[in-house]
Amino acid sequence: MNMIISIIKGFYTTGKHLFQKPVTEEYPEYKRPLPERSRARIILTRDPDGRERCVACYLCSGVCPVNCISMQASEDPTGRRYAEWFRINFGRCIFCGLCEQACPTSAIQLTSNFENIQRDILKLVFEKEDLLVDHGGRDKTYNFYQHAGIVTKLAGKGEHAKETPPVNIKTNLP
Ligand code: SF4
Ligand code: SF4
Repeated sequence: MNMIISIIKGFYTTGKHLFQKPVTEEYPEYKRPLPERSRARIILTRDPDGRERCVACYLCSGVCPVNCISMQASEDPTGRRYAEWFRINFGRCIFCGLCEQACPTSAIQLTSNFENIQRDILKLVFEKEDLLVDHGGRDKTYNFYQHAGIVTKLAGKGEHAKETPPVNIKTNLP
């Protein structure tokens, strides 16, 4: 008896869809808009003043579960850190988004651009010049140093132009 009910249910489900208008999306002619939080191609973004956000702190590479991020830290003449080179192997990346969550400066961001297929797997190794964009990504206004301050050879924390003094975290104590 149960078997007959199951068969009827199956035919009912099939029948329900028989006379519905089929939904066919002709990719790539039509590209379905993806949610803003979709996770695909990774970019390195810039501060609103155009400077590279990445300070080569290695947090993203440390948190990456498949070890596909590598870089070399360096300092510019003012003492500000930056990545001399920065590499992501998209052949290994699983687009988990952990690197973006770990990044204190909002430099590394995942975008919804998923069209990065390559026949040659070596072409999936992206260097800094392939990753660095000329905008702030989804967070255009955030400037890490305006909140945190930075010590450089020119001035101390909170003493540079447009920088606010850092918060004394002890004032937040109850
Ligand atoms: S998305 Fe995940 S796997 Fe890809 S680089 Fe970031 S942390 Fe690594
Ligand atoms: S992208 Fe972010 S987490 Fe990774 S090294 Fe640069 S500043 Fe640090």
